[in-house]
Amino acid sequence: MKEIAKTYNPKEFEDRIYNEWMSKGYFTPDIDHNKKPFTIVIPPPNITGQLHMGHALDNTMQDILIRWKRMQGYSALWMPGSDHASIATEVKVLESIKEETGLTKRDIGREEFLKKAWQWKDKYESRILDQLKKLGSSCDWSRTRFTMDEVCSRAVREVFVSLYEKGLIYRGDRIINWCPDCNTALSDAEIEHKEQKGFLWYIKYPIKNEDGYVVIATTRPETMLGDVAVAVNPDDERYKDIIGKTLILPIVNREIPVISDSYVDPSFGTGAVKVTPAHDPNDFEIGLRHSLPFINIMNENATINENGGKYEGLERYEARKLIVEELKQLNLLLKTEEHNHNVGHCYRCDTVVEPMVSKQWFVKMEPLAKPALDAVKNGDTSFIPERFEKVYINWLENIKDWCISRQLWWGHRIPAWYCNDCGHITVSRENPQRCEACGSVNIRQDEDVLDTWFSSALWPFSTMGWPNETEELKYFFPTDVLVTGYDIIFFWVARMIFMSLEFMKQVPFKYVLLHGLVRDEKGRKMSKSLGNGIDPLEIIDKYGADTLRFTLITGNAPGNDMRFSNEKVELSRNFANKLWNASRYVLLNLSDDNTKLYTDNLTMADKWILTRYNDIVKEVTENLEKFELGIAAGKLYDFVWSEFCDWYIELSKPVLYSDDVEAKKITRSVLRYVLDNTLRLLHPFMPFITEEIWQNIPHQGDSIMISDWPLYNDKLNFKSDEQSMEIVMEAIRTVRNLRAEANISPAKKAKIIISVDRDDYQKIFELGENYILKLAGGNELIIEKDKSKIPQKALSAAIHGGLIVLPLEDLINIEEELNRLNTEKISILKEIERAEGMLNNEKFVRKAPENVVNAEKEKLEKYKLMLKDIDERIKLLK
Ligand SMILES: [Zn+2]
Ligand SMILES: [Zn+2]
Repeated sequence: MKEIAKTYNPKEFEDRIYNEWMSKGYFTPDIDHNKKPFTIVIPPPNITGQLHMGHALDNTMQDILIRWKRMQGYSALWMPGSDHASIATEVKVLESIKEETGLTKRDIGREEFLKKAWQWKDKYESRILDQLKKLGSSCDWSRTRFTMDEVCSRAVREVFVSLYEKGLIYRGDRIINWCPDCNTALSDAEIEHKEQKGFLWYIKYPIKNEDGYVVIATTRPETMLGDVAVAVNPDDERYKDIIGKTLILPIVNREIPVISDSYVDPSFGTGAVKVTPAHDPNDFEIGLRHSLPFINIMNENATINENGGKYEGLERYEARKLIVEELKQLNLLLKTEEHNHNVGHCYRCDTVVEPMVSKQWFVKMEPLAKPALDAVKNGDTSFIPERFEKVYINWLENIKDWCISRQLWWGHRIPAWYCNDCGHITVSRENPQRCEACGSVNIRQDEDVLDTWFSSALWPFSTMGWPNETEELKYFFPTDVLVTGYDIIFFWVARMIFMSLEFMKQVPFKYVLLHGLVRDEKGRKMSKSLGNGIDPLEIIDKYGADTLRFTLITGNAPGNDMRFSNEKVELSRNFANKLWNASRYVLLNLSDDNTKLYTDNLTMADKWILTRYNDIVKEVTENLEKFELGIAAGKLYDFVWSEFCDWYIELSKPVLYSDDVEAKKITRSVLRYVLDNTLRLLHPFMPFITEEIWQNIPHQGDSIMISDWPLYNDKLNFKSDEQSMEIVMEAIRTVRNLRAEANISPAKKAKIIISVDRDDYQKIFELGENYILKLAGGNELIIEKDKSKIPQKALSAAIHGGLIVLPLEDLINIEEELNRLNTEKISILKEIERAEGMLNNEKFVRKAPENVVNAEKEKLEKYKLMLKDIDERIKLLK
């Protein structure tokens, strides 16, 4: 017989077991047409990243699903990889270059920068992937992809060119969100809106050749340098007469028209708005409608450019201050009001973004959004929990064209070449040598790269080799479940769905399983600045990966944020300990390598645990099918802890410590069987400990991870015995409680009387006699139908089918106990007298602090209750 170590020490086996799984190729599924595929693609972690709690949760959930399906006999593929994370990585690489050499992006140039960035990738990609391995992730590492590797890059190129050919990608002047710090355009999804305190400045714009003026209100006065009109609502009576007149733009002295546009809200500010098409998305639209000029007044670093006249070169907020000052001096500032408004910030660096007109590449969204909306509305893809479908639908219904060009170097360079001779743009699958229009060789490639989410949007099929029609793609696509955080529904989930519908003509996954954020124990977001982050690797190092996984899953419901605390970690660690110790007990009591379950002559306890186990199989499987991972984990916890360890193991002891060879054989087989199969149910949640134990108990097969998932078995359903056992257990629990309440030592054996009125219950208690005596500290069990025979001086409590009676004379020396109680009563009476004395003292009550008085009142209440309790006990003994 084998034996596991005396104490649970995950460090001794987690790495060893993971390497064994890897070397045996268990993570790599075959393309086997006799099996059904089950596929998950990993949300590729950024190569800049280190494993954080969010990853740990996300990947634990995926690993649970993939291990479960693998055990159910599916060809289960978990496709891993990492993301180049364009902007995030570029920032880090530049930082490290600056630190090492003091050089900037411009100093080193594109080629040298890219060399450094690839070195970075080679160094840090393996770091994050190795951390996923530590967690136990059973990804197929032989298929690991990277968003910028050859395979994925080819897909990106194909999609770009194909959308361009269909007219769904275009280049144009549009208002984009510009981050002056990152020096790039950002998509709408990359902007975080925050409510901020600011001002509304009311500025007078004089009417040309008249005495009057029009007052406009603005939150960004510096943008007036780019004003080209003032707009009012055509139905606004106040301004009827001035539509068509000309105003003199203060400071700049440009002549600008008053136009009417129904977009203008008459109730905001003065009802007249300045129009700055180059620096505001709504003004941009007005500018297009009225064919107004676009005057860009800002440089890329948000300083004022040459269109700002004397303000050229000033930083935007400095310019704002001076312009307001100048307006005051010109007597053109009517008033200033405090004003709260939403300001867009860069999601990377938190700088306030500047809306700016710029030449960028866009994806036309309307034709792509429509099928993606339908796919979710008609249920081809379902969100769990369902409430997030609204978020998705709302976003797609209001979507604007997607700005996909970024003024960065790290990423997929836009495959467009501009002809210096004829201006034609050549977009092609292969790098062109000449302009496709005029044949000139005088061409240059677009400097920009694609939004990092462009390549992630293709992840479910680019990883499988598309546009080639690979075997992988035919077999594993579409995937089954996407597991991700609710915070990237826009960035990623929606884009994968529309790209997949466009290029694969299918949804990329059937289910989107969403999880929330992992917060600290007080419910705050874990963050560097708060210093409240908990490093999952430290938890793994200290407690093992199984404990971390179980902590993250227990009590976690789809879509909800969770709180992570060390207290929860300890509970999971205690659970692992409990399982370990119970397994040790089973192992020590087995005598051979037999794996057969004997089902003849089972005891009531055997039948009970088999029935309970059988129910758990059914329930846990159903929970997993509904993605209720937290509930499944909770049920396994309860089953292992209370039913298997606290009850069945105790119930098995009388048999195992007896001389009945045949009975011992049966009970051993039940212990082994239930442990074996419970380990399998637990395996997806706690892969390491279950493997380590399973390898040491008698078993069939090479590894628990490729063993069969347990099935519900009608033959193990002993419902009426289960109920009988529950009745016996209730009796045991009741006796224990009565004894505990009366402070009776567990070692003290005593008589137990059960008064019953019905024959069927009498029979049940007779069958359970041995269990009751052994587990409830009895030396004699009397099952009594005649109530008159029940002694008066006794502890008693009602249970199903009868009354538990514990005669006191067996448990205690009545005279001694009475003396003890009377002494106790005297001291309580003294305390009551003292407290009442204080509370009746008016001076005390008036002068003492309120909390002191209240504490005294509470004490008095407590003593009174104790007195009542003691009186009752004295009465019982007399
Ligand atoms: Zn930024
Ligand atoms: Zn040309």
